[in-house]
Amino acid sequence: MDLSIVIPLYNEEESLPELSAWIEKVMQENKFSYEIIMIDDGSTDRSWKIIEQLRVNNCNIKGIKFQRNYGKSPALNEGFKAAQGDVVITMDADMQDSPDEIPELRRMIVEDGFDIVSGWKKKRYDSKLSKNIPSKLFNAAARRMSRIKLHDFNCGLKSYSKKVVKSIEVYGEMHRYVPVLAKWAGFRNIGEKVVEHRARKYGVTKFGWSRFVNGFLDLVTIFFMGKFGKRPM
Ligand code: UDP
Ligand code: MG
Repeated sequence: MDLSIVIPLYNEEESLPELSAWIEKVMQENKFSYEIIMIDDGSTDRSWKIIEQLRVNNCNIKGIKFQRNYGKSPALNEGFKAAQGDVVITMDADMQDSPDEIPELRRMIVEDGFDIVSGWKKKRYDSKLSKNIPSKLFNAAARRMSRIKLHDFNCGLKSYSKKVVKSIEVYGEMHRYVPVLAKWAGFRNIGEKVVEHRARKYGVTKFGWSRFVNGFLDLVTIFFMGKFGKRPM
């Protein structure tokens, strides 16, 4: 199988039909063999019903359902465990990420030999104050602490060689720093691609102000793991 598309989702009922149709179109145009793994992270809307309906018409769609909302990291982790494709792509369900980026993200893994390629939302379509400025600060701090030269650690759109996702565990809120987990696991060939970012078409963001607290606590984790992780206490 060429590709696994891993999509964590929480209350994204409006986006799922459009998103899966768009992915299908890109897969067919490029003649990729693929699976779409949708992880329903305890949605309380009709997301799971819609996944079941989509599966009737497309047997490449697979669903995993959590009984409650565990968070984006555990959702990604389950997706990584289930993935069978040679290249694994993660993307958000809200259509802020464009499926048209998938072929190039895959090519950079297969032909250029990257372990990971991380999307960079160079031009963002989120409200400026609440996201762009804190995000710049987080990224600068994450770059310093991890020594990984990425502009946009938290971008949901990334591609991985299969061996990477099978070697890491995404726990806590570490979905923001998956490239750091990969580096700790010995994968150093980390690339970046500028990707198109789109405004959220349906629904609302699922992360409130808690993102700053949790994002900061994980930075602290990165700092200490980087400093002491390989040395005796
Ligand atoms: N998400 C999830 N579990 C959560 C919160 C979010 O699976 O507890 C999913 C969400 O449905 C979306 C992705 O993670 O597919 C990114 O979330 P969101 O778009 O709300 O974040 P933002 O783009 O505002 O950073
Ligand atoms: Mg979003």
